Amino acid sequence: MKAARLKGLLIELRKQTVAEKPARIEPNRRDAAASGVPDEDEQALSEMLQTLASQRNKKQAEVLKQIDRALRRLESDPDLAGLCEECEEPIPDKRLEVMPHATMCAACRGKRDPKRRQTRRGLIDFD
Ligand SMILES: [Zn+2]
Repeated sequence: MKAARLKGLLIELRKQTVAEKPARIEPNRRDAAASGVPDEDEQALSEMLQTLASQRNKKQAEVLKQIDRALRRLESDPDLAGLCEECEEPIPDKRLEVMPHATMCAACRGKRDPKRRQTRRGLIDFD
């Protein structure tokens, strides 16, 4: 993929990621009487929601970091745009269109981190 196109994709993805509001973390609620849910259950639910929200926020920050890293790399080595860091083969356009911040092809990614590959679900694994 050409550097200019890849840069466009990265900037677009960055905009989308930044526009996504951080998940709201609800303060622990104590008014069990109002909801009719026993205090303990309410507490557990609230903790679970907070965990989910902070996981999402963490993921979002991670993706942003990777986008910025890819943009810097593009800036300093435009010749390496879309090339796998590991085997230096071009990363397929299809992969870059979904994940412009990918720095390795799927094969190298899988070799480096086989466990993660086994557990990943769906198309987008946000390298
Ligand atoms: Zn590779």
